[in-house]
Amino acid sequence: MPSFQNSFQSKLPKIPTSIFAIMSGLATKENALNLSQGFPNFESDSKLIEMVNVAMKNGKNQYAPMPGIFSLRKIIAEKMESLYGVSYNPDTEITITAGATQAIFTTIAATVKKDDEVLIFKPAYDCYEPTIALFGGKTIAVQLNPEDFKIDWKEVKKLINNKTRMIIINSPHNPSGRVLSKNDMLQLEALLKNTNILLLSDEVYEHIIFDGEKHQSAALFPALAERTFIMASFGKTFHNTGWKMGYCIAPAELTKEFRKVHQFNVFSVNHPTQVALAEYLKTPSNYLELGKFYQEKRDLFLSLIKGSRFEFTPSKGTYFQLLNFKKITIESDVDFAIRLTKEQKIAGIPISVFNENNYDTKVLRFCFAKTNETLKKAAEILCNI
Ligand code: PMP
Ligand code: GLN
Repeated sequence: MPSFQNSFQSKLPKIPTSIFAIMSGLATKENALNLSQGFPNFESDSKLIEMVNVAMKNGKNQYAPMPGIFSLRKIIAEKMESLYGVSYNPDTEITITAGATQAIFTTIAATVKKDDEVLIFKPAYDCYEPTIALFGGKTIAVQLNPEDFKIDWKEVKKLINNKTRMIIINSPHNPSGRVLSKNDMLQLEALLKNTNILLLSDEVYEHIIFDGEKHQSAALFPALAERTFIMASFGKTFHNTGWKMGYCIAPAELTKEFRKVHQFNVFSVNHPTQVALAEYLKTPSNYLELGKFYQEKRDLFLSLIKGSRFEFTPSKGTYFQLLNFKKITIESDVDFAIRLTKEQKIAGIPISVFNENNYDTKVLRFCFAKTNETLKKAAEILCNI
């Protein structure tokens, strides 16, 4: 008789442990500077932390309402109105989630059926594909060219058929830092008009955008907005990724389906934190100044590594910078990332893990959401390689 372990059939047989867990684990073990997993090494605003403490002391310690507290959903609706001039109903179109990861999982769970095709662009954030697989969907991956990561919408059109259930976009884009233009969004809109294809728009870096670029939210394009689930993350915006707070915005019919799953997925999310975020969002400068804040960090980091043997195109958004190491070694990006962590005491993320068939373009991703002191230390190491 086969042992229980041998007869157990994995639902995700080919999925390894996430690269973020691997590289952060290795960085800790090796006592290396951790510029791999994307999180700040500085504190969230003490005022926001105090607001959470106050909410806890005020007894906001039991389950929040299933879709999130109304005051938080209302202020998110006001933010969407003031930033993009679009109106979302906080009652029926906004749901507070345990980070964007849960919002993505819940969206896919609520919409993707067996044999549905979901189009994604690679390099892609690592949670899309396994989630599609869990629900029996088939990922159709479009590998982007590693020079500019531009999407060829004519190619995309050829891949669309009556099995296409959803397209997933992500701008500003992790890991490349590319930003979708208005023209990109108009082309996507023309492509999806008169189809029943859904859009999942991962906009977790909406406020981390540089050089005067404007974030082109899917909410701005009516024929997209009517079919789009927008993903947002407070962790990225307010420097507290460990709180795992985010939200999903979608038209009422879509939100209804989203909440059918959400209620059994988490039911509701951290209550005192919601109370604090509702208060903190009343001050728009808390998120409007983020682009400038991170652009300064990008510029500092890039000015310090200018003399190194790494090659780069400045990131246009997110808090990630890609560095090409082809002038340094012919090692695979995974081997090089591991060796850098062990020998040079600096950790980055090898990009091949986000690519189709682990296509290795000799590029590592470094997170610059770090104190200037850490960025200086990191640059010193990188310049000596
Ligand atoms: N999407 C992208 C593109 C990300 O980089 C991340 C990581 N923050 C997420 C989603 C998940 O966000 P959260 O930490 O809020 O779950
Ligand atoms: N979004 C973060 C990154 O890209 C990490 C999130 C995670 O650890 N899953 O590094």
